[in-house]
Amino acid sequence: MMDRRLFLAGLAALPACSEIGLGARPHKKRMAITLDDFQLEFDIGLDKESRHENILNAFDAVGHKAAGFVTGSFVTSDWGRRVVQNWLDRGHLIANHTWSHPHASETETAKYLADIQKNKSYLDELLRQVDFFRFPYLDDGRDRRQQTALFDGLKDLGLRNAPVTVGTVDWFTSNRLEAALKINPNKDLGPYRDYYVEMCVTLANHWDGVAQAVGFQSLPHLTLMHHNILNGHFLKDVLLALKSDGWGFVDAAEALNFSAYHAMPPEPTLGRNWLTLRQRAANVEIDPYPEQYLEFGRKEMDALGL
Ligand SMILES: [Zn+2]
Repeated sequence: MMDRRLFLAGLAALPACSEIGLGARPHKKRMAITLDDFQLEFDIGLDKESRHENILNAFDAVGHKAAGFVTGSFVTSDWGRRVVQNWLDRGHLIANHTWSHPHASETETAKYLADIQKNKSYLDELLRQVDFFRFPYLDDGRDRRQQTALFDGLKDLGLRNAPVTVGTVDWFTSNRLEAALKINPNKDLGPYRDYYVEMCVTLANHWDGVAQAVGFQSLPHLTLMHHNILNGHFLKDVLLALKSDGWGFVDAAEALNFSAYHAMPPEPTLGRNWLTLRQRAANVEIDPYPEQYLEFGRKEMDALGL
């Protein structure tokens, strides 16, 4: 007969067994980094070659293959084309982010689709084939009718939608940093690094909580950042901090292929996180958005003198 204590110990051990494959798998924090736009010109305090190399080296530091969502009109120079080519040579993915970065809701649908097509032709010439597309400003149409026409258009172009599940508001932080560098090119950047690293980790964990609340276990998150001076300086710090916080990096090609991302969202996105739309559809409670990053972190940065 089985010893009662052993029996109880066995029961206590059950959850651990189920975690290693018999039942539900343990939750994993996983993300792919996507860098949008490729506005490459700002070079005060960090030259363009260093910015470019630092970003690619940051991915290497954590063994990550990322995705760049390129707005073609930003990379028509020899340097721009070289940056794109380098991303490909180093194993990263390049995707479509329109030719001229328009707002869909303010643009006639046919004109908007022609802008995507123009970028597709340009990138296809550079790269052979591009499979994924992201709407600038996460604006996929002013209403259901335009949204439907745009998603039909994407399908005709052979492109799949790439939403965002972790937004970092890095563009706002970088704008503030650029403004400060214009005034003082030798500005102490440490406080910007600390602020940015903490923001990325906090927001990643917030959105991962939302993902779990709406029923996704180990969602392959798509994190939105931009090719800017902020990431030229601190992307490596951010990725290493995420790694220390328990995040793993899943290749962007794999994360972008997660099929739930491709379908038209249940309502026009209007700049919102894909998970916000899922949460609204599921009508579940989630933790409030971290207050310090409301309004893109404006008040918090003001308070820190950044
Ligand atoms: Zn953009």
